Amino acid sequence: MLERCGCWLGRNFLTGVDGFMKRFLLATACLLAAAPLCRGETLFVEAETFEDIGGWSLDTAFTQIVGSPYLLAHGLGKPCADATTTIDVPAAGKYRVWARTKDWVAHWKAPGTPGRFQVLVDGKPLTTEFGTVGADWHWQPGGEVELPAGKVKLALHDLTGFDGRCDAILLSSDAGFQPPTGKALATARKKWLGLPDQPEVAGEYDLVVVGGGYAGIATAVSAARQSLKVALVQDRFVLGGNGSSEVRVWAQGGTLRGKYPHLGEIVEEFADHAPDSPAAAEHFADARKEAVVRREKNISLFLGHFAQAAETDAEGKITSVTALEVRTGRERVFRGKLFCDCTGHGVVGALAGAAYRIEPQGRMGMSNMWYWQHEAEPQDWPATPWALDLEVGDFPNTVKSRSKIGGNGSGNRASTRIQSTSWS
Ligand SMILES: Cc1cc2nc3c(=O)[nH]c(=O)nc-3n(C[C@H](O)[C@H](O)[C@H](O)COP(=O)(O)OP(=O)(O)OC[C@H]3O[C@@H](n4cnc5c(N)ncnc54)[C@H](O)[C@@H]3O)c2cc1C
Repeated sequence: MLERCGCWLGRNFLTGVDGFMKRFLLATACLLAAAPLCRGETLFVEAETFEDIGGWSLDTAFTQIVGSPYLLAHGLGKPCADATTTIDVPAAGKYRVWARTKDWVAHWKAPGTPGRFQVLVDGKPLTTEFGTVGADWHWQPGGEVELPAGKVKLALHDLTGFDGRCDAILLSSDAGFQPPTGKALATARKKWLGLPDQPEVAGEYDLVVVGGGYAGIATAVSAARQSLKVALVQDRFVLGGNGSSEVRVWAQGGTLRGKYPHLGEIVEEFADHAPDSPAAAEHFADARKEAVVRREKNISLFLGHFAQAAETDAEGKITSVTALEVRTGRERVFRGKLFCDCTGHGVVGALAGAAYRIEPQGRMGMSNMWYWQHEAEPQDWPATPWALDLEVGDFPNTVKSRSKIGGNGSGNRASTRIQSTSWS
């Protein structure tokens, strides 16, 4: 039906409380006498372009599976505040509604449906609860709704706080409309968003660093200080990766160590000074990390850009990396003489065709993220029938240990003795 209509009209709206471009698509699947097979309006709303994402998070981790970033209601059992936006409905009428989502525990056939959410239209919930079926991403039908012409408010209303997810919403008054899937969806998404077929060129650089964690920041700063023109491409809107306020793995010191202690000096400029792990978000000093990077005039910083393709020459050498601007879907190409994969999981190498292996077994190694504390009184926690029932002994190496962090004594925390859970 999409192809048959051939009369999509895209409109872009500049809205948004924090000033970013909200790209909202309006596709018209009928109207014109010249296109008699088309009998309705179809509206496509990307969840990541909502004006206010409330308590939901913009998740980029599965962009290549989903086809775009999506909104995730990660509330640790407390429902997240609504994500809200306003759409322009061109003609009053009855619209069928779909949300692109999945039941994230269905893959394991686990009981319960933790990712449930509602779609509110002008404050009223549709009767369907979304996120309740399907192990894979799909368009879950949500019934029909009568819409007036003009401004209509949409909201994603989380019901659980346990990771409900929504990629996009479609509304159509065309009785024959079927939401596209697979490659047709990727093509339709570009058309609906009014995006060009080819990515725009974001520049030519001496060095393109992909990933803005500790490795990426230090690499970019070091190269810039040696007069290289650097692009730093980071998918999140903060720098630091595992060591950012979003993940909160503390740096613990020990950066000035070994044979070449000066290598750690750049890291010391932006490393956190969190007193413990886990620590509060502010201890991870995201702003300081960004300030260190922004001070370097040779670095162009591209936050919110997810690298999703790498082009190579005949010898297999990387010539460019293409990244998706995560809120708009716009693609940008970064050309360079050198590339540094600082994604923490080698994705640029994999995209460029390098050999790699993913181990299916034995990946649950020691980790200090498994953290608990004892409370005097029992604490409330919602029932989680889908969760694994684990004992302390199921976590490898979770004994408390004292680890001495090394160093040459010249760093501010180089010889600190710290208490940690098994990181050594
Ligand atoms: C559970 C756990 C506990 C740990 N505990 C400690 C500890 O106590 N002390 C310690 O010193 N170290 C600890 N570590 C190790 C430490 O966190 C890592 O060594 C360090 O964060 C690695 O830094 P990085 O910059 O290489 O990668 P990361 O911190 O992973 O940063 C990579 C960045 O690249 C971004 N990225 C990924 N893919 C893309 C893409 N396609 N496009 C654009 N950007 C992308 C990511 O969003 C991220 O911001 C721990 C690690 C884990 C996982």
